[in-house]
Amino acid sequence: MGIRMKLEDWHTHSERCHHAEGSLEDYVQYAMKKDVKTLGFSDHFPYEFVNGIDRIPYQEYAMSLEEIEEYLSSAEALREKYFEQLDIKVAFEIDFFEHQQDTLNKELAKYKSRLDYILGSVHILDFEDERGSWGFDDGRFLKDYKFYGADQVYLNYYKTLQKMISTPEFDADIISHFDLPKKFGHFPSKEKEVFQEAIKTLELAKEKDYVVEINTSGLRKEVGEQYPSFKLVEEMFDLDIPILLGSDAHDPKEVAWEFESVLHKVKEIGYNQLAHFDKRKRTFIEI
Ligand SMILES: [Zn+2]
Ligand SMILES: [Zn+2]
Repeated sequence: MGIRMKLEDWHTHSERCHHAEGSLEDYVQYAMKKDVKTLGFSDHFPYEFVNGIDRIPYQEYAMSLEEIEEYLSSAEALREKYFEQLDIKVAFEIDFFEHQQDTLNKELAKYKSRLDYILGSVHILDFEDERGSWGFDDGRFLKDYKFYGADQVYLNYYKTLQKMISTPEFDADIISHFDLPKKFGHFPSKEKEVFQEAIKTLELAKEKDYVVEINTSGLRKEVGEQYPSFKLVEEMFDLDIPILLGSDAHDPKEVAWEFESVLHKVKEIGYNQLAHFDKRKRTFIEI
């Protein structure tokens, strides 16, 4: 091994989102054990104000609006308490829903100045038919995944991501788990068409100055690889898209999951720096 790398994990969840294990402080303990230098708390932003998600068990997807204040103040208190050992960042992972930015922004405005960064995500798709919107990365909706088939899921997903990126009212810094539809190991048969849509999405991300996260949670899922695939990371490097790492930990033990090996690989691809955020300002660290 060469020089010890500065590990920074920008994507973690805690028991506050009702589907993950561990308190924020448990995450801090594990992060220090694993020699993590920067730990970002990025719990899911509430969904209760979103329209048209009748089938989504959103109470299990995120904290409620009234729990936000406690989340932020606990995270801020931990940042103070561990100031000398760990650089704690405070954030949200926020889902994109078309034409619903006004209500989202109204809820978000009260807290925005306290955030170091925002992860922008798409977990829910709407094919605008009678089935209604559904969570394509939620195992409980696998029937819907099969109903539409991988090709349509991937294509609809990238189109939705493109809308997210090109909606200026949707204010985020980082695109999470870029090729998430592969989670359960389903791949499109229209490989070329889907790949081209992915590239189009990346070009748009570059144009809008987004960072794309390398998310290692896929290594713990059926697909067995990080999001996005290294093939896409190569395209990102050619497009000069900044990256950073997220474990998407839903258990403290998953903090900085497989970061060393993934860092090794992205360096091989050509990256020599990672994005870093502080109060929504982006800088870079060398790797
Ligand atoms: Zn989650
Ligand atoms: Zn996510």
